This record gives sequence, C-alpha cells and structure tokens, in this order.
Amino acid sequence: MNARIPDPLAIFVDGLTGLVDGGADEATIFRDGRALLAGLIAHDDWLPAALTEPDPANYRIHLLHRDPAGRFSVSAMVWGPGQGTPIHDHTVWGMVGVLRGRERCEEFGLPARPGGSLVPGHVHELEPGDIDFVSPSVGDIHRVSNALAGGTSVSIHVYGADIAAITRSRWETDGRVTPFVSPYASCLLPSRAS
Ligand code: FE
Repeated sequence: MNARIPDPLAIFVDGLTGLVDGGADEATIFRDGRALLAGLIAHDDWLPAALTEPDPANYRIHLLHRDPAGRFSVSAMVWGPGQGTPIHDHTVWGMVGVLRGRERCEEFGLPARPGGSLVPGHVHELEPGDIDFVSPSVGDIHRVSNALAGGTSVSIHVYGADIAAITRSRWETDGRVTPFVSPYASCLLPSRAS
C-alpha cells in the first residue's frame, strides 16, 4: 500500500496537534477537535483500502497516527457483519466518527453501589458523519457494534492516549471487571512529523 499519510488525515493531525500544543482541555478538544474530526470524516475517500477490509473473526483497529509525545492517537476500526466490542471503558477522552456504514452504541452507567450491576443507558446508532464522545467525565462505558447485518462499517477513533498501550476495563453487565487491552492490527502509516 501507499504508506504516505493521506492529506485529510495530515490536516486533522496537524490541527489536533495544535490544539494539544496549546494546552486544550477536554471541553475544548470536544468542541474544536470535533470540528476537525467532522472535516476528516466528511468524505470517505482517503483511508487506504487495505485498512478497510474486515477480518472474518473479529473487528480490528489500525493505527493511523500516534502523537510522538503520546498525547493522542488516531485509529480506524473496521467491523464486519455481526462484529462488536465487549462492554469496555476508555479512561481517557475519546471521539468516534463514523466514516462508513452504521454503528450501534449501547451506553452504560457505573454500578450504583460497589459490586452492583452496570446501569443500562442510552442506545443509539451512528451514521457516516456522526460523532460520539467518551471519557470518564461524559460517560466512559459502552459497547459498540456494527449495525449493518450485511456490510462493513468503519469509524475513526481519536483518544487522549496511545489507546493500545493502556490497560482498560472490560465489563460484564453484572458488574464484573477484567483487564482489557485492544492492540493494533497494523501500524502501516508513517507517523506525522510534528
Ligand atoms: Fe469504545
């Protein structure tokens, strides 16, 4: 594949790097970073085809850019029919923009008491151009799946860390928690120099 970073991705990375360099807090990133992400997912013509092929067994995550200082990462998640995540958290701010297809998001609240069950929350579907937010302050626990029974969905994920490098939590609805790490299936694109 062509390993050159696509122009729309370079514009997004430069913009987000500028925000982070300027010390943007989470609210600022969710406002100004959202606008940048909206621009990135406005056209589904830049992600290399090799990074849009679903794996038959499970969803996969391709690293698109890792901030050299580890302050954020950009990745593409590819979902085949019927594929989805376990219930999980993120521990850092995150923005999810759908590029292709349709995704279903089920949100959960923390147990009302220690040892209790997760509290089912809002369930919604995201179409191309839609953007969702996660973080410990705005709601951090969800389950995401491909809403298309017969097609591939692709979304662009931006997190306030190198998301594959941190240990998060996988939840069961009854409140049980186990460590959760989601490694990248590939890191094929060169890092954007900053
Ligand atoms: Fe998530």
